[in-house]
Amino acid sequence: MLETSALVDRELRCVACGSTFMFKVGEQIFFRDRQFTNPIRCRACRNQARQARQADARLCSECSATWVLSAADAGWFTSRGLHLPTRCASCRRSRKHSAVKKD
Ligand SMILES: [Zn+2]
Ligand SMILES: [Zn+2]
Repeated sequence: MLETSALVDRELRCVACGSTFMFKVGEQIFFRDRQFTNPIRCRACRNQARQARQADARLCSECSATWVLSAADAGWFTSRGLHLPTRCASCRRSRKHSAVKKD
């Protein structure tokens, strides 16, 4: 039979939002059977990440929030030979010395 008796629900901490979430025995078996690595994000963040993938969104390198780089924005950066931003809009806004003059 399955060696489920050795497994217990585990509490993991989400790398994205920092909250703890339960990694249930049932999920552990599911992950193990598929040889997935243990989840690093809570369910809400995983759903968010899944939606983000579909929308070509990125993970902010500063706050780990997901944000979408629109095709228009991507074109703006690449057409100027700039690196695509790695931080979300609010993190970029909060940086005073990034000095983007838009007016
Ligand atoms: Zn989370
Ligand atoms: Zn951010």
